[in-house]
Amino acid sequence: MNPRTTSRWTVEKSAELYGIRRWGAGFFDMDANGDVTVKVKFPSGEVAVSLMEIAQGIAQRDHAMPVLLRIENLLDARIIFLNETFREAIAEKGYEGEYRGVFPVKVNQQSHVIEEITRFGARYGHGLEAGSKAELVLAMASLQPGALLICNGYKDEEFIDLGLRATRLGYRCFFVIESPAELDIVIARSRALGVRPLIGARAKVYAKVGGQWTESSGDRSSFGLSSTQLIEVFEKLNDLGMIDCLQLLHCHLGSQIPNLADIRAGVLEACRYYAALVKEGAPMGYLDFGGGLAVDYLGSQSIHPHSRNYDLADYCRAIIDVIRATLDVQGIKHPHIVTESGRATVAFSSVLMFNILDVMHFEAVSLPETLPEGSHKRLRHLFDLCEDIEDHNLADRYTEAQAIRGQIRDLFRQGHISLRERSLSENIFLALAQAIAGRIDGLDEIPAGLEGLRQSLSDIYYGNFSVFQSLPDTWAINQIFPIVPLHRNGEAPTREAIIADLTCDSDGKVDTFITGRGVRPTLPLHAVNPDEEYLLGVFLVGAYQETLGDLHNLLGDTNIVSVRINEDGSYDVMKEIEGDSIADVLSYVEYNPQALFENFRAIAEVAVREKRIRVEERKQILNEFSASLQGYTYFEK
Ligand SMILES: *Cc1c(COP(=O)(O)O)cnc(C)c1O
Repeated sequence: MNPRTTSRWTVEKSAELYGIRRWGAGFFDMDANGDVTVKVKFPSGEVAVSLMEIAQGIAQRDHAMPVLLRIENLLDARIIFLNETFREAIAEKGYEGEYRGVFPVKVNQQSHVIEEITRFGARYGHGLEAGSKAELVLAMASLQPGALLICNGYKDEEFIDLGLRATRLGYRCFFVIESPAELDIVIARSRALGVRPLIGARAKVYAKVGGQWTESSGDRSSFGLSSTQLIEVFEKLNDLGMIDCLQLLHCHLGSQIPNLADIRAGVLEACRYYAALVKEGAPMGYLDFGGGLAVDYLGSQSIHPHSRNYDLADYCRAIIDVIRATLDVQGIKHPHIVTESGRATVAFSSVLMFNILDVMHFEAVSLPETLPEGSHKRLRHLFDLCEDIEDHNLADRYTEAQAIRGQIRDLFRQGHISLRERSLSENIFLALAQAIAGRIDGLDEIPAGLEGLRQSLSDIYYGNFSVFQSLPDTWAINQIFPIVPLHRNGEAPTREAIIADLTCDSDGKVDTFITGRGVRPTLPLHAVNPDEEYLLGVFLVGAYQETLGDLHNLLGDTNIVSVRINEDGSYDVMKEIEGDSIADVLSYVEYNPQALFENFRAIAEVAVREKRIRVEERKQILNEFSASLQGYTYFEK
């Protein structure tokens, strides 16, 4: 028996089942109604607002699902958390430098996100990191002068000129030198424009880090200066009387680093480079550790690639401890600490909300007591396998049944059995598989060979979204995001499911899920009620997903709605951005929607001329075609 149906179900059990308090970082929970809530802290206390209530408000404003919901307060909360936790650690450890955070634009370039980070971050002097000309342009127009503006990536003359202008305007704009050739361009352009540049050196870090992005460090990392090149950069600046410009050492160990020991090792290596440059006579002053601060998507606090074995306070203390241990003995002044934490800043603030359109079950319909007279002997064999199933023969029975099912499918192909017989055999097989799966649930260990059985019998829930557009990392790097029903959590979820998207691609699915007990191949969900929309939320999707997404099957950007939660528990809709229309996505692949319409009109005109349709019908068809061009690319009710 499924334990979820035997005892009375509660919201508490759902909260535990989906692990929402583990990965939710105090931002997400469930209320007594069984709705998922977002929680925001105010001086007067914490308020919790139901995401279902917000979803209804969005529907009333006429935005169809899927919707990417942004919660501004969570962006603010993360900026506060990052800056305040560093401040506390600095005070606690008597550290003499400051923390200067910058947000790496590539992690979420959406204008509204950057506007909020720069607006709210101004109180902490939170800066931006740009990795290309386009990112620098938006950073210069978004940031208040005085803040740090860190320029990474390969830089041409135009990039450097832009940065030098930023310096003239009062930004602390650092060119992080990734290769010796780049330094020559910086020197030449700063002479040409008569602006003294601020220069950082990106050191190649050899300490190997675990996780998804191990390639960012080590010998073959494509970024950063080797120790020989670092000396070359120093000498060149020194010879030109520009050593005062060299004020920052940069390193980036990779993103989502699960193990604090790896971060310590990388920080230590960076500190050695820093100290050496100071000893050589560079003024320095800033030590930039790049990204890597991980998000615990699983809520397991482990070294799993989608988790981390430390919290922010541990991260801050580790950095400070290693700096002090390395620099204090050499009498070197404490540098300002810079981090380019992207993922940890924005992941929490976005939730993808979508509805379920249909469900496919893999269940036997009722079987006859006996087989019809004259049934094929293979069918009889299969039928007999359903008898005497015991714990010790589960795997054998299943393997045998699979073999016979294969033979029956062959017989059908060769024309030896009928469609009805084949259908009956598939049903018998499913009944057998279900009986076996039911027994496995009662065992301590899944018998060898039957590991995938539960998943093969699970439902497929068809979701109104595209994995490729909205959750590209699930497909590209097997990223796991928490998925939870937004409502009905007071009811027992009686189904086990995987989720398929709207694309007709076999990769357009989610089949790895986070629960309170770990990662599983299926997700417990509720049976869908025919008269009620069933809404799911995908959480922690604010980092990297929006611009990495693509137009697979021409499913475009979703609608985006930004809300701000108020102290009295109400919320304001701050921004509503219509998702792509069909005309939009067609124009991305170089169609001209107007020309498409004109072609289609000509086709309709021919149909009128050839008397296949009447002229009134032509008008209706053209109106519908035109409305479709303006419509949403997702499934509409
Ligand atoms: C991608 C990147 C970051 C952001 O990393 P997170 O792990 O998301 O914080 C920071 N700095 C550089 C140089 C990067 O390439």
